[in-house]
Amino acid sequence: MQSTSIHELAIGEITRLSGRGVQRLTLAEPLESSFERSTAAQRSSRLWIEGLVAIGLFNIYVIVEYFIRGGDSWLALQIRLCIITPLALLINASMRWNPNKVYRETSIALVSCLIGLTHLYLESNKSSASSAYAQVGLIVTVIFVNVVMRIYFTYAFIASSVLLLGEILFIQHDHFLNPSEKLLGITLAICAIAMTLIANHSIGREERMGYLMRLRSEIQSSELSTLNIELQRISSIDSLTGIANRHAYELQFAKLWHEAEEARTCISAIVIDIDHFKAVNDTSGHLYGDRVLVRVASLLLQSLRCKDDFAARFGGEEFIVLLPGTMQEGAMIVAERIRKLVEVAGSPAMQAEGSHPRLSTVSCGVATCWPGSANCQNDLVGAADRALYQAKAGGRNRVCWGEPSSVARKRPIGERRSGWLVTKGDASSLAKAE
Ligand code: GH3
Ligand code: MG
Ligand code: MG
Repeated sequence: MQSTSIHELAIGEITRLSGRGVQRLTLAEPLESSFERSTAAQRSSRLWIEGLVAIGLFNIYVIVEYFIRGGDSWLALQIRLCIITPLALLINASMRWNPNKVYRETSIALVSCLIGLTHLYLESNKSSASSAYAQVGLIVTVIFVNVVMRIYFTYAFIASSVLLLGEILFIQHDHFLNPSEKLLGITLAICAIAMTLIANHSIGREERMGYLMRLRSEIQSSELSTLNIELQRISSIDSLTGIANRHAYELQFAKLWHEAEEARTCISAIVIDIDHFKAVNDTSGHLYGDRVLVRVASLLLQSLRCKDDFAARFGGEEFIVLLPGTMQEGAMIVAERIRKLVEVAGSPAMQAEGSHPRLSTVSCGVATCWPGSANCQNDLVGAADRALYQAKAGGRNRVCWGEPSSVARKRPIGERRSGWLVTKGDASSLAKAE
């Protein structure tokens, strides 16, 4: 099921559980199964610890009672220590293996009923004090199962009904209490059961509400982060060409610059401008011009071979390529590759039959520098821009090299040279070298 429909289901269940009156606690599937999965281990572990404490207290009470009564409850001591305690310990230990829901809730309910009913049985028809005291024991058992162990409501309801039935049978067969004491006893038992069941229901509701709230906020934050990623993607992509936009370029340039500075390596930039693009728009229309831009952007990406190479739309019909760790010779080869690819494949066919588009070409300005404290990103782009101007002035559809104006052009001593050899500014010899 998709997260949105689970989200809607969770919101529906939150509204239902927050409604007035007694609400059904079982959640709609698949929320109920998911609630069980996510809470079962913690619940079993809580039942194991609280159960252990309860068994300890029960045994202290059993032993204290035996001595207070001067040893005349020997049978009760034997039944409690030799039957009830081992059984309770066994069931309690099984909680450590994180049993399934039905076993977990039923076994706790059964042990609690067993404790309550044997208590009634063992105290019945002994004395009027024992009869009153038996009913107190029953109320303690009800509090234990419904509020301390707080087994799920349905199981708590069944266990309480069994204990109430035991109380009615006990009252019926008791010879020491008079009718008004019996009535009082049964009223007290019913009140205790009703109040603890109300508490059990409200605890169960809170537990499920807590789970639903957590689930809702998890889904919301995961939806938000998906939305954020999508927003980031949208805000870094040029909507027309699908490549990185100016904003993404600025972030990436700063990152690559910093990395190159740290690694004491160089970085090259190629500024690319479509030739006579105004004329392309004027003769073939702006929509065709857009198709040229998309085509050139895709050819740019195809020209890049290294994983860190980066291309972006600089603005209008200008693009920029950043080549980290690439020296002049390598950058000139990439620029020439771009120029050639656009010359060969940069002109999409016109949709109207018979008309021929103007041939699209690009001019490229290339520059390289070693980032350091003595230069900045603008030096590199400025040098590439000047080289682009030269390429335009030299007749367009060509690649020119530009020297950065600052010390940025100087290569630190010990820097490795690229294996490419090239004559400065001679792009045709580079094409051969490629
Ligand atoms: P040059 O060879 O000197 O670069 O000449 P040019 O015509 O390419 O340069 P100019 O700066 O005169 O014109 C750039 C044109 O690019 C003008 C503008 O209409 C067009 N342009 C800029 N952005 C877009 C765009 O997103 N879509 C289209 N179709 N045209 C655009
Ligand atoms: Mg331009
Ligand atoms: Mg242009």
